[in-house]
This record gives sequence, structure tokens and C-alpha cells, in this order.
Amino acid sequence: MHSKADIASPMHPHPFRVLETWEEIPGCTTMRVEQAGDGSGCVFMPGQFYMIYIFGHGEVPISVSGDPAKPEELTFTVMAVGSVTRALCAVNPGDTIGLRGPFGSAWPVDEVKGHDVIVMAGGLGLAPLRPSIYHMLQNRDEYGSLTLLYGTRQQQSIVFQQELADWHRDAPMDVAVTVDTAGRDWPGKVGVVTELLKGRSVDPAKTTALICGPEIMMRFSAYALLDLGVTADNIHVSMERNMKCAIKMCGRCQYGPFFICHDGPVFSFDRVERLFKIREV
Ligand SMILES: Cc1cc2nc3c(=O)[nH]c(=O)nc-3n(C[C@H](O)[C@H](O)[C@H](O)COP(=O)(O)OP(=O)(O)OC[C@H]3O[C@@H](n4cnc5c(N)ncnc54)[C@H](O)[C@@H]3O)c2cc1C
Repeated sequence: MHSKADIASPMHPHPFRVLETWEEIPGCTTMRVEQAGDGSGCVFMPGQFYMIYIFGHGEVPISVSGDPAKPEELTFTVMAVGSVTRALCAVNPGDTIGLRGPFGSAWPVDEVKGHDVIVMAGGLGLAPLRPSIYHMLQNRDEYGSLTLLYGTRQQQSIVFQQELADWHRDAPMDVAVTVDTAGRDWPGKVGVVTELLKGRSVDPAKTTALICGPEIMMRFSAYALLDLGVTADNIHVSMERNMKCAIKMCGRCQYGPFFICHDGPVFSFDRVERLFKIREV
């Protein structure tokens, strides 16, 4: 029997039922889940993550990739890279997984109202950014221009492909996609994501950038924006490190003076720029 204190503990995983899963791209699964029983819903802020527990395998941090305006369910997009994420990608509708959270800092979508917002994503980095895009599109009048610049290695690794096409066609947002390498059948742009900044008019005084992807991609994107005059405190990045407790106790995710689970994962670039330059931090 669990005591009430156990159930309220941030270390206690709550059962969630898998509603639907689909292969996003090879090796990467998106899943919708809902809290089992009479849960109080799943309120989270764009950019936050949950610890997902797969019984018999272990627990991993995964960002929410779904719509924050739909608290009755959560969506996650998971790349199978090791034992726990492989097991997570193999769940089926009807299965039960354990969740605790949400944890961590959020994209500053409310603080940047009135600003032009540039969202820059690399590979699966679009997943933790997608809730912020939903939020800004739902509250479109509250922002200046919205721009989504997305880069992946190749055409086959583009996540949320249909949604990107829909946004490109219908959404009041400038959407551009590039791939590092392409075959002849790719009609779009080829090159790294920072190339997509070229030729775009950016007003640095009122621009905020939200960036997520591999660290090298975030570093080059942040420097490209600094070159355009955007200030480091208006550039936000989302950091990833191995973590265990997610409540600032175990120290596994320590990043310089920060704990990524608590102070991050979203940081303004002025807070972490120095750490980006140090290898092995
Ligand atoms: C805040 C946060 C949000 C995340 N959101 C997502 C998400 O939305 N979707 C997703 O697919 N993954 C996400 N991750 C990464 C995910 O947690 C790791 O891939 C997972 O922990 C790997 O566990 P594993 O047991 O499957 O593999 P392991 O056997 O632990 O590791 C396999 C490989 O991945 C590396 N690795 C493990 N954990 C991390 C990590 N946190 N960062 C970088 N490399 C790592 C290992 O060094 C190893 O090379 C997130 C991580 C953090 C910290």
C-alpha cells in the first residue's frame, strides 16, 4: 500500500494509458497518452518534459511534443537510441506507462508577446518546440511575425512532415525547411539551417529566437542570430543531459552551475554561452 505522501511525491510515477502510436520516421515513434483513472489532467508549459517509466526497463526524460491547450492527453515523440527509448518506442495502444512531471523551465511564450519570434529546429529538436508553435498560432494576434526554420540531415528524417506542409500552406507563419544532403527528388533547399536566415529581414530590437536541436546546431544558430544583432538574452536554447531524479537531487544532469532538470532545459543564451565553449561540460 502506498501512503498519501508517496503518491504526492515527485518521484512517484503515475499510470498513463497509451491511446495511439505511430512511426514518425524510422526509429522514431509519436504516442498519445492519457492519465489512467480520474486524473486531474496534464497541464504543462511548452518546453517542459516528463520522466517516462517503462516497467521492467527504466525511466527517461522526454519533452512533450503535443498541444498545451489539450490537457486531457499528452503527446511524446521518441527516438529509439538505447534500451529504455527502444522499449518506449515499442509500446502499443492499451499499454500502461508511468509518468511523473511536468518538470523544468519553459519556452518564454508569454514573456515574448509583441515580439517577432524565430523558431529554429534541428532534427528531432522540432518535437520540444512544437507546443510553443501551437501556442503562438492559437494566440497569433499577440505576436509579431512568426518564422519556423527547420533543418534535418535528409528528407527521410523530417519529423511532422504533413504538419510542416500544412503550416507552410495555411498557417500565418513563414516556414522554411532545409536538408543537409538530398537526392534529386528533393525539391527543397539543401544546406544547414542557418542558411535559412540569409535574406530574411530580422529586426533585432524586437526579435526572440527559440532554438532546439543538436548542441552544434544550437551554437551556430545562436551565433548567426547574434551576428544579426539579436541579443543573447532574447535567444533561448533547450539543453539535454542524462538525468535520473529530475528534482535537483541526484546531480546527474549538472551543467556548470545549473541543474538541467530544474534550471533548464530551456535557458536564455546569455546564461549558458560560456558553457557552450567548454568541452565535456
Ligand atoms: C529534458 C530532456 C528532454 C528530452 N526530450 C526528448 C524527446 O522529446 N524525445 C527523445 O527521443 N529524446 C528526448 N530526450 C533524450 C532522451 O531522454 C534520451 O535519448 C534517453 O534518456 C536515452 O535513454 P536510453 O536508455 O534509451 O539510452 P541510453 O542507453 O541511456 O543512451 C543511448 C545513447 O544516447 C545518449 N544519451 C542518453 N541520454 C541522453 C541525453 N539526455 N542527451 C543526450 N544523449 C543522451 C547516451 O550517451 C548514449 O550514447 C530528452 C532528454 C532531456 C534531458
